[in-house]
Amino acid sequence: MLFDTHVHLNAEQFKQDREEVIKRAFDTGVKYMTVVGFDRETIPLAIEIAEQHDTIYAAVGWHPVDAIDMTDEDLEWIEELSSHPKVVAIGEMGLDYHWDKSPKDIQKEVFRKQIRLAKKVNMPIIIHNREATEDIIEILQEEDAKEVGGIMHCYNDSAKYVQTCLDMNFYISLGGPVTFKNAHLPKEVAVEVPLERLLVETDAPFLAPHPNRGKRNEPAYVKLVAEKIAELREISLEELSEKTTENALKLFNINQ
Ligand SMILES: [Zn+2]
Ligand SMILES: [Zn+2]
Repeated sequence: MLFDTHVHLNAEQFKQDREEVIKRAFDTGVKYMTVVGFDRETIPLAIEIAEQHDTIYAAVGWHPVDAIDMTDEDLEWIEELSSHPKVVAIGEMGLDYHWDKSPKDIQKEVFRKQIRLAKKVNMPIIIHNREATEDIIEILQEEDAKEVGGIMHCYNDSAKYVQTCLDMNFYISLGGPVTFKNAHLPKEVAVEVPLERLLVETDAPFLAPHPNRGKRNEPAYVKLVAEKIAELREISLEELSEKTTENALKLFNINQ
């Protein structure tokens, strides 16, 4: 029984066959999923998908790449939606220095506003970090995000930042890259993170795990991520699945 803690079933890439993709995930043993919304189009769709399936949940937030587009009304809208019974987290939010659509100072401001919102509504946050680790950590510390904690999604940094994240009340979520042959960092992290702070995700449709690398990712493939981590940690897939699912249910405050 697995929990894909970060999936974009609300993405364009699943428009044609979303229900088949969901069914394949359930058939593979993925019992729970959190669909992550990140802009005006994907947020309502994340909630709609969650409403249609008992064990699918939604997260609502604004992506850093599009930070420049977020208005005060959008922030108020996200706050309203946070009280929806299937919304379990605020995010994804964070910093993405790979793309330059939104200037860094605007990304930081939008990130801070969303952390404050999450603290106000007392919900965990989902962090998107691309090439911005030091600034992310500084902002999380300055805003005292520890109060709500959350997920470092698709963690792709060296193991040296893991302890800092754990100290701030964050879980570490690993996805497809842990299965890539040449990816050493996520493999180190996979064995370094205490089992009670580890999560698995796909970030589908992106970052499909080996042997599907380069193809469209889907939530059923979270099993490939879990199998790889279990192998690296030298524990059974059952134990890894059970623990990471338990972690996600606790973090998202889901009572099943
Ligand atoms: Zn992301
Ligand atoms: Zn994402």
